[in-house]
Amino acid sequence: MNAAPGRVKLRNNVTFKDSILFEILFLGTSASAPSAKRGLSAQIVKHDEYRFLVDCGEGTQRQILQSGTGFKNLSRILLTHGHLDHILGLGGLLSTFLRWEAIEELEIFGGRFTLDRVHDLLYGVVLRGNTPPMPLRLNEIKPGTFFEADDFTVSAFPVSHRGPDCLGYVFEGNARRPFLNEKATELGVPFGPERKELVAGNEITLPDGRRIKPDDVLGPLQRGVKLVVVGDTGRTDNLLEVCRDADALVIESTYLDEEAEMAGEFSHLTARQGAELALKAGVKKLILTHISRRYREKDVLKEAQEIFPNTSVARDFDTFQVKRAE
Ligand SMILES: [Zn+2]
Ligand SMILES: [Zn+2]
Repeated sequence: MNAAPGRVKLRNNVTFKDSILFEILFLGTSASAPSAKRGLSAQIVKHDEYRFLVDCGEGTQRQILQSGTGFKNLSRILLTHGHLDHILGLGGLLSTFLRWEAIEELEIFGGRFTLDRVHDLLYGVVLRGNTPPMPLRLNEIKPGTFFEADDFTVSAFPVSHRGPDCLGYVFEGNARRPFLNEKATELGVPFGPERKELVAGNEITLPDGRRIKPDDVLGPLQRGVKLVVVGDTGRTDNLLEVCRDADALVIESTYLDEEAEMAGEFSHLTARQGAELALKAGVKKLILTHISRRYREKDVLKEAQEIFPNTSVARDFDTFQVKRAE
């Protein structure tokens, strides 16, 4: 979780990715209603040119502007569930796209129940018979992988919260075999296209006639970086496997342990429960969000850190880099 670059540049402009990296920018970190300092749920997960807006609470477009990140490439929105504090911002966002900002297309992903409500908001209230200004697709997703790029995937998994079809998301780099630079140098493999061939899995022949196989210079298969984002949830026992060994876990923390009963009643978590999940699942870094204005941030942090020291409580406009923990 540090700022190490995602790419290693070698001579002759051959670029190898060392390990892929996700960045998460928090746009809204408040629970249910905004506070003076916290907007409603929204965050952007970024990798290379890909950007995913996860949830879009009321006021998200203002947060996007204030953060300086802009609307460009923000064409994929993933929704965790259909509660108003996670979707109302879609109305304003679309309204802005109607008149002020151009975007090439907009794809909104979520469970059936969530998308039904979003459909009512966008088509019943905002558009009311008008055609969307760009291709607009509401994509119902079920648990499983629904997005694949060259070097990472995004998958959905079921989450237990009030109402049906609640989802969490896993962003995961593809497993890969690291290129052993020192070994290659030892074997006399020049810097340049030869190394690229080996990374691509092809055997090469050196000028002196020796043949070098990929196995000679590639290390054992390593899993990719893993970022898990859970929205609101009332349970953690069913999240243990999906969170296993995650490099970072983002999860709600609406209550403190002193109100654990109320947390259960409203199907939310306490800071302690989030921390216990992180500990049991072998997570490397825990980031708490969906913070209620009834508590002080330091009390939320303290409760979690007593169980899981590597915890942060996200604030609006915080950015975290998620890298594979060694
Ligand atoms: Zn919520
Ligand atoms: Zn909710």
